[in-house]
Order: sequence, then C-alpha cells, then structure tokens
Amino acid sequence: MIKPKKYKSYLLHNFENIPQVRQYLSDADQHAIRVVGSVLPFKVNNYVIDELIDWNNIPDDPIFQLTFPQSGMLKKNHFNEIAQARKKNNGDKELVANKIRYELNPDPAKQNKYNIPLLEGMKLTGIQHKYDQTVLFFPSHGQTCHAYCTFCFRWPQFVGIDELKFASKETELLVKYVKENPKITDVLFTGGDPMVMSTSRIESYIRPLINSNLQNLQTIRIGTKALSYWPYRFVTDKDADNLLHLFEKVVKKGYHLAFMAHFNHPRELDTPIVQKAIKRIQSTGAKIRTQSPIMKHINDKPEVWSEMWSKQVKLGIIPYYMFIARDTGAQEYFAVTLENAWRTYRKAYQSVSGVARTVRGPSMSASPGKVQILGINEIHGEKVFTLRFLQGRNKNWVGKPFFAEYNPKANWLNDLKPAFGEEKFFFEKGHH
Ligand SMILES: *Cc1c(COP(=O)(O)O)cnc(C)c1O
Ligand code: SF4
Repeated sequence: MIKPKKYKSYLLHNFENIPQVRQYLSDADQHAIRVVGSVLPFKVNNYVIDELIDWNNIPDDPIFQLTFPQSGMLKKNHFNEIAQARKKNNGDKELVANKIRYELNPDPAKQNKYNIPLLEGMKLTGIQHKYDQTVLFFPSHGQTCHAYCTFCFRWPQFVGIDELKFASKETELLVKYVKENPKITDVLFTGGDPMVMSTSRIESYIRPLINSNLQNLQTIRIGTKALSYWPYRFVTDKDADNLLHLFEKVVKKGYHLAFMAHFNHPRELDTPIVQKAIKRIQSTGAKIRTQSPIMKHINDKPEVWSEMWSKQVKLGIIPYYMFIARDTGAQEYFAVTLENAWRTYRKAYQSVSGVARTVRGPSMSASPGKVQILGINEIHGEKVFTLRFLQGRNKNWVGKPFFAEYNPKANWLNDLKPAFGEEKFFFEKGHH
C-alpha cells in the first residue's frame, strides 16, 4: 500500500530547515545555494529530498544537481557581485540580481518577439504559436512547478521578470483561435507545469476545448514534470481520482491525450509511487511520451540514456525528444558540445531496441526551429555537421538536410557557420 504524502516545498528562505541539508551540506555549500539562488530560481520538495536524491553522493548526485543551485552555475564575476550585494544588505540585492539575470539571455529563442499570435488584432499573450500544427497554451495558474530544475529555460518567469511571463486565463480565446486556424491539430498545455493546478482548475481549461466540437483538434498534450517531482498528484492527492476521471473523459470524447513527461534520469522512474502513477495515467487511455535535455552533471553519459529509454519502454512509455541545453541561465555549467551530444545520443540509440528508437535528437529549440544534429561527415575533404529541421518557423525548411562547418566547441546553433564557404544558411536568406 502506498501512503499519501503531504506536499511540503522549500524555497530560498527556508531550505535550511531541510534535515538532510543540515546533515549533509557544509556552511560553504549553503552559502553557495543562497548566492546562486538569489539570481536563479530555487524550489524543492519533500518527495525529491526524501525519495529521489541520494544524499550519500553529494554533490555529484544527478538529482541534487538537477534541483539544488551549485556555485559553478554562475560565472565567477556574477557570483562575487551578488555575494557582495547580499553582504552589504542595502537594498541593492534585487537590482544586482536583475542586472545579472538580463545578462543570462532570459529570452533565448525570442519567444516574446515572434510567437505571440493575434486574434482579431488582439495579442494573445498566454498563447504561443510557432509551428503550424501545435499551439502552446500557458494557463495562468500553471506557471510554477512542484520543484525547479536548475537548468530551466523558463526560469525568468519564476524570478518575476514580468515582461517575460506568458500566461493566460482565456480558454475562450484559445477555443476561438483553434477554430480559426484549421491547421492546428494539437493544443499543448504547458507552463511552468499545468499539473500543479487543482483538478477543478484543469477541468475549467480542458472542458471548453473538448466540448466545442473543434473539427481540427486531435490531440491534447500536457507538458509536465509532475510524474518526476510529485507523482502523488496522480495517486493519493485528494483530487487525484477526479483528475484521472477527467483524463478518461478526454479520451472517451475521442481525443488523444498525450502526456509529454519530462524525465532527466532513470532514477526518476524507479520509485513505487511513480510507477503506480504511470499505470494509473495509462489506465485512462492517455499515452505518455518523454523528453529531456542532455546536461553535464546530470545525464551526459550514453548509459544513462539507454537505461532511461529502456525503463520507459518497459513501463509502456514512448521516448520522444532529446534536447540540447538552451543558451540561457546556467547553460555554461550544463553545456555539452553538439559533437558530444550527438555521440552520446548515437551510442545510446545503438544499444536499445527499435521500440525505444522513437526518440528524436539531439535537437536545439532555436529561433528558426528545432534543429537536429544528424551527424558529422566528411564531404569533399571538408569536415561538416549534418543537420536538419524537425520543426521550422517555415514548414518548407522541415526535413531538409543542411551542413555547417565542423566546430568541436560549438554548443548551440549560433556557434555554427555554413559549410562550403556559403555566407548564410538557407533559412537565413530573407529571414531576420
Ligand atoms: C517543440 C515545440 C512544439 C511541439 O513540437 P513537436 O515536434 O510537434 O513535438 C510546439 N511549439 C513549440 C514552440 C515548440 O518548441
Ligand atoms: S519542470 Fe520544466 S518548467 Fe519547471 S523548472 Fe523544470 S524545466 Fe522548468
């Protein structure tokens, strides 16, 4: 029998109360958390602390790295600057923190500039629409998570840089927008994590969608890390049964309910509670797919990925995406070069069966689209990266291989130059 757990979260102001922190972290470790945590968001909970982190393996433990700020996550000069401001305690702390935040590329894929759609001339700020078939919806009550990932690219909204916040209460507008854009087949609820909301709140967002007889709508996706950070949400929380009932309703109405679950490490699939949660979700007819970035300190070994994908397949889950860490926040700390990401992907891919090879990657979600690294080739004596768009701002870009000069240090698309002496990549012509 699984016992219910009462959710307890910890933030910067009270993390010293965590018994394991007192027992296992030195004063210097705690100081680093305080310093880094005043720039980047920090939130953890009692499930992550009690059941996921291996405290005998601090600081190398991957789940500890995933959720606890580390001194290396800020550049030395930034670290010292904010440490000084904290020490002076004269009210400058927030100013300094914000200055540093803006130096950490808070809007990496220019999401604010390009992807906010219009309806009858009105900006729909809680909606992002970049690729024809899929519209992203940011319910305003889902803009937090059960814990925060130290590498999160959505970090600006958790530290309250407000103009970067996308959020919407407007399900009515969403329904209208889906109706008026017949190419849309998928609505993806995202955040933050929409699964932090109460069932009645989630229902108030989903019900209008499934009751509006939208002919083009096929799939409702839910982007979430709750399976990893708080699986009790689906098993013992007081409105868990109602939530599963809602999922059943979506499926019975004829829609595909796709759980886009965020898992970074095989450990997150091991606890009895997460396995129970997975079974319950699947029993409603929903399908679970998974995605994760590849990051140093957490999962940059091929064995970690092959183990993760194999465990997922065994649990009836479909591996979906491997991403490259975005060029934002603590990217330098987590960065894996494009070359190493591809080598890791390939090695892991080779050692799993075909049913786990549904996973696509490694992929960069950049401003022009999702760019996959297909490999490294030598063509007419020139060493090149072969790449392709899995998704493109312009659908004509999708699926077409293209080439970049080989660069062993490249971490991101903007580190790459076109191969064969070309001046621009094909997608840059006429695009700015
Ligand atoms: C990844 C992504 C999607 C979904 O892409 P799929 O390949 O269909 O999973 C939709 N919108 C944005 C902005 C994305 O980054
Ligand atoms: S769960 Fe997702 S949105 Fe939340 S902190 Fe992690 S990466 Fe960011």
